[in-house]
Amino acid sequence: MTVQEYLTVAEALSMVLNGVAPLPSTEVSLDDALGRILAGSIVAKDSLPPFANSSMDGYAVRSADVEGAGMDSPISLEVLADIAAGTVADVVVTHGTAARIMTGAAMPQGADAVVPVEDTNEPWRNSVRSLPEHILVSRAVKRGDYIRPIGEDIEAGQLVLSPGHILRPQEIGVLAALGISQAPVHRRPRVGLLSTGDELIAVEQALEPGKIRDSNSYAQAAQIKNLGAEPISLGVARDQEEDVCRKLELGLEQNVDLFVSSAGVSVGAYDVVKAVLEKEGNVGFWRVRMRPGKPLAFGTYHGVPYLGLPGNPVSAMVSFERFVRPAILKLAGCKEFARPELTVLFQEEIWSDGRETYVRAIVTRTAEGYEAISTGSQGSHVLTSLVKANALVIIPEGVKKVETGTPLRAMMIDWPASVF
Ligand code: AMP
Ligand code: MG
Repeated sequence: MTVQEYLTVAEALSMVLNGVAPLPSTEVSLDDALGRILAGSIVAKDSLPPFANSSMDGYAVRSADVEGAGMDSPISLEVLADIAAGTVADVVVTHGTAARIMTGAAMPQGADAVVPVEDTNEPWRNSVRSLPEHILVSRAVKRGDYIRPIGEDIEAGQLVLSPGHILRPQEIGVLAALGISQAPVHRRPRVGLLSTGDELIAVEQALEPGKIRDSNSYAQAAQIKNLGAEPISLGVARDQEEDVCRKLELGLEQNVDLFVSSAGVSVGAYDVVKAVLEKEGNVGFWRVRMRPGKPLAFGTYHGVPYLGLPGNPVSAMVSFERFVRPAILKLAGCKEFARPELTVLFQEEIWSDGRETYVRAIVTRTAEGYEAISTGSQGSHVLTSLVKANALVIIPEGVKKVETGTPLRAMMIDWPASVF
């Protein structure tokens, strides 16, 4: 790879995505499948429902028998059997007969509809009622009424889920209903996480002059966990190439799938990450026309993809959103990498320097659509404006001034109920 400078965000993102491939698959039990990404197709072995059953508590009947039934003209039927859920009745509903049936119970032969219990003179709700010999039906039903046919939801042999599908609670419910207790999923990405900088001290350490707490390790570990990936902490490296390499070696020993580091990628005298990649790996690019987050290194370290984020906490988090999140999702087997976006009317004048700018903002819903305002100081070290934000509003590349009321794209990092 040749070293290119100042890529657009789109160019940089496409290089990052080209540099990672989905991880191999493994099998997990349904108990551990939540949030995992399917690595294979799911084809139904059985139909769902597996048999025609009643959707109501009532009486299984022949619809032709109750054609003229009404409140003033009830029709009497002989009750042959009582069919509870989980049982199969050995009866045939013939002309003039019915079978009491519970929700979910298999339809008996001969019946082609169910009359809900409310439409008979034998409601048994809230009390245990012995089986009546006869019932009066006071409402006509059509063939198929209140029956859930076999295969209505899923037919045996049908392709139900495709690779790349995320397993949410509803997918797990479907797998369970189909008797699939082990799901083929992609291996969880293992992300080696490194902070660099001589100024960093541990969170539990007392502050000293000139030192700051290493917040990035925690913020990026949380971002990684939010994606269902596994952060592997490689600690804090001093601003020395040997120390950075030593820590990265720990990652290689632990078979990480991706390295993510923060700081040390600017043009400062002690910014060593790019030098390490140049010597021990490969630098794909190291500067992007983006704000915050211009310095960003992408390459490989001993063959493992490497993303070097800027050190400033907001730059690190926004660059993570833009580049690391899609990379991890691709490793994890996802097919979609973008956050949901809305078009919002920006409610203030705002300036940019022409780089693609990500404004920390709060998006709200109005009668007409969505609007956004910034959440305060946009300094790349000011984390609290990210704390207040639910979106990153994007000022496109080349635009230096945005007038109040301009429509802009908002990348939703959160989707609180108030936005709907
Ligand atoms: P650098 O990219 O090394 O020039 O760092 C840019 C800014 O980010 C500096 O003000 C650093 O002190 C700060 N910074 C670097 N690493 C971290 C970290 N792990 N946690 C919090 N701030 C950091
Ligand atoms: Mg530094």
